[in-house]
Amino acid sequence: MTRRGLLIILSSPSGAGKSTLAHRLMAWDPTLSFSVSATTRKPREGEVDGKDYRFLDEADFKGLVARGEMLEHAHVFGNFYGSPEAPVRDAIEAGHDVLFDIDWQGAEQIKHSALRDHVLSIFVLPPSITELRRRLVDRAKDDPETIAKRMQKSWDEISHWHGYDYVLVNDDLDVTASKLETIVTAERLRQSQQPDLFPFIRALQSEFEEEHS
Ligand code: ADP
Ligand code: 5GP
Repeated sequence: MTRRGLLIILSSPSGAGKSTLAHRLMAWDPTLSFSVSATTRKPREGEVDGKDYRFLDEADFKGLVARGEMLEHAHVFGNFYGSPEAPVRDAIEAGHDVLFDIDWQGAEQIKHSALRDHVLSIFVLPPSITELRRRLVDRAKDDPETIAKRMQKSWDEISHWHGYDYVLVNDDLDVTASKLETIVTAERLRQSQQPDLFPFIRALQSEFEEEHS
């Protein structure tokens, strides 16, 4: 049976581990398609244009928004971020799930879009604020000022936890990754994700009626 693709949204305060979990999920199921966001933020060391993000200047980013090519977009930590819509639609129609690493503003917009029936949203919490800071510092990808800005904004993001379908406390990475896989496995079996159920049930019914006629 074929199935519809899910829009899997991961959000968390910066540093809680959603990018790490997204990579784990894609290693678990390589058919998952990652929604490569566009951003006006400068690339971090090791980030690849077109793979981690599409790095754009503000004029190009605003052009995409003006032409209605973004499924959602938001201003986060002084930069613009957004999810281009076309690759998402293509993947969903081909039956692939799409994974989003986006903030609560983007999640809200997708939950109110035409694709809302196929959204699975998961919020990732850190085990403590001290650990959140430690992870941001140890990641060593941002300068102290940026880390301070991200810590300052962390409560703003955390305060939207209740709008999500699932909440995971990312303490032990292996345990959290395994819980995430369980959630995705179950959600793929949602009735609304299985368009072939109707013909399948009709076939079962015919078989049943033939046997009992
Ligand atoms: P986010 O994408 O939410 O900003 P990252 O995935 O970049 O966060 O994780 C931030 C840092 O924390 C990274 O250095 C990552 O390796 C580390 N990390 C992620 N999850 C865990 C975990 N469960 N335990 C310890 N360190 C973790
Ligand atoms: P970072 O700069 O650490 O890669 O991302 C900063 C924040 O922006 C994170 O919370 C991340 O989830 C969010 N983000 C990344 N891409 C998008 C996007 O396309 N849309 C929205 N709304 N947020 C995004």
